[in-house]
Amino acid sequence: MKFRTLAEYYEKLEGTSKRLELIDILSELFKKAKSDEIGKICYLIQGRVAPFFEPIEIGMAESMIAQSVSRAFDESKEDVLRLYRKLGNFGLAAQSLSNKKQATRDKLSVKEVFDELLRIAKFSGEGTVEKKVSTLSDLLKKVDPVSAKHIVNIPLDTLRLGIGDPTILDALSLSKNGDKTLRPILEDAYNKTSDLGFVAETFFKKGIGGIKNVKLVVGKPVRPALAERLPSADEAIKRLGKKFAAEPKFDGFRVQVHMDRRHLRGVPQAQHHLGGGGEGVILLFSRNLENTTHAFPDIVDGVKKEVKAKSAILEGEAIAYNPVTSEFLPFQETTKRRRKYKIEEMAKKLPLVLFAFDLLYLNGKDITQKPYKERRELLELIVSKNGDIVKIAEEKILKSAKEIAEFFNEAISEGLEGLMLKKLDSAYVAGGRGFHWIKFKRSQAGSLTDTLDCVLLGVYSGKGKRTEFGVGGLLVGVYDEKKDEFVSISRIGTGLTDEEFRKVNEISKHLRVQHKPARVNSNITPSHWVEPKVVLEIQADEITRSPIHTAGRDKEGLGYALRFPRLVKFREEDKRAEDATTVNEVIKLYNQQFAHHKK
Ligand code: AMP
Repeated sequence: MKFRTLAEYYEKLEGTSKRLELIDILSELFKKAKSDEIGKICYLIQGRVAPFFEPIEIGMAESMIAQSVSRAFDESKEDVLRLYRKLGNFGLAAQSLSNKKQATRDKLSVKEVFDELLRIAKFSGEGTVEKKVSTLSDLLKKVDPVSAKHIVNIPLDTLRLGIGDPTILDALSLSKNGDKTLRPILEDAYNKTSDLGFVAETFFKKGIGGIKNVKLVVGKPVRPALAERLPSADEAIKRLGKKFAAEPKFDGFRVQVHMDRRHLRGVPQAQHHLGGGGEGVILLFSRNLENTTHAFPDIVDGVKKEVKAKSAILEGEAIAYNPVTSEFLPFQETTKRRRKYKIEEMAKKLPLVLFAFDLLYLNGKDITQKPYKERRELLELIVSKNGDIVKIAEEKILKSAKEIAEFFNEAISEGLEGLMLKKLDSAYVAGGRGFHWIKFKRSQAGSLTDTLDCVLLGVYSGKGKRTEFGVGGLLVGVYDEKKDEFVSISRIGTGLTDEEFRKVNEISKHLRVQHKPARVNSNITPSHWVEPKVVLEIQADEITRSPIHTAGRDKEGLGYALRFPRLVKFREEDKRAEDATTVNEVIKLYNQQFAHHKK
């Protein structure tokens, strides 16, 4: 396929925000793609040249782009910047300058443009800036104006097509099958590998049979299993059966460990090599599947010494822990370890322990389909009994509500967050919530016992004392998984400390946009819209029905809203926007509190 054809589809996609239309346009595009280019197309429409979990960025900000555009079209950098300011988008500036040139342009293929962009991403060392600038400017000279527009928008992350992963999965199914019925099977493969390009390519090359055969791969993060909430221990027992596992819910952060001592294939760049001539690899992924290997050298070291397996994918919760007093430190302490600088120094000051709680892959085999009980037994076999850094999460097999209450109180008194109850015969449900895992958290004040993970949709300018913070209020929403969009649920004007207001300002500054972002559905307009990327954990007293918000809005125009919302935690580093609480969960929570009130 010519890149020009893809660029025309970018134009069509840009022209609508309606999900059904997006799916139709994408499926039309996919029908034209060959099996060796579909993967690249999937990355490119998400503005990338690699799956999102690989730390491969094109690495060109506005100034470098301006230089490339200037060189490509013989304009001064100042003129390019002036045009950019006038048009409000660098892509449009490049398109307009390219239009003025009557050059003969090569018809580059999607593959050629992709490879050039990837080459730009991989330049490093001395002269990097010059290499990037000249390669991009050469590329811009060779393409038509519409292609130039979109090529420039890719490194700047200003494509704004508003396409989420579920939309691509629907379109893949539609393109090959004429309907969306294959979506769940494709999604399953996506949940196991988190790699849309890989899933699309496998689908095009090997058909749906090949997709059903997709297994976990060391180096590709697995979308984590998620927990459900239930209002009481009795309700939980109904779902879990007569006997079930209970573990402390550690209040740290989730780590997915990928280890292969023998060989490495198709593994991303940022990784820890296990000596011996570069054989073997250990990778760590966060809850939102970012590669965080470099940030936790102590965990990498612990895994290397204390996990006895040739290859494995395991999950655990990392928490700051005082081995002398066996004390779990509060989340505020643990989270200090998530930093970019002074990593080694902090690792000494605040050592982490990884409490391993699940095993997904062992010695070359995907074991997600084995019952939890068996996975846990295998986990116990491979984790050293007296390791300092990797420890097995304590587990009790319980049978009654009374036993749950006792263990819960014990966990709370040790400063933990509560309990995780797990079904003994359940497979590992990648990327899914289900009643195989039920969480019981320490309740805070108010009748709503659980918190919600909300997405920051907008901010209000600060007034009075808050002018200096830059932000005086927040508009937050939840995820509507059916429509693949974000809907508003609350405005938050109090319940944040001065410092937290400042932090919201800091993290939202780069995400502010002038118009309501794609995939945001809200009737309220904040002072500034924010790209839906940041997740905040919010506690509220109650969920109420409200005509103002769009979350779960019914035919009468009534949605859901939060009463007395307040910020509990910033989760911007461990949850993606799509991992926020869903509308369905909000409705469940609403009904649960109703059941409480009736008691
Ligand atoms: P939440 O983020 O509140 O929905 O709770 C789910 C999270 O609890 C998981 O993503 C883990 O990070 C964390 N967690 C802590 N302890 C455990 C455990 N024993 N089993 C599973 N998850 C745990």
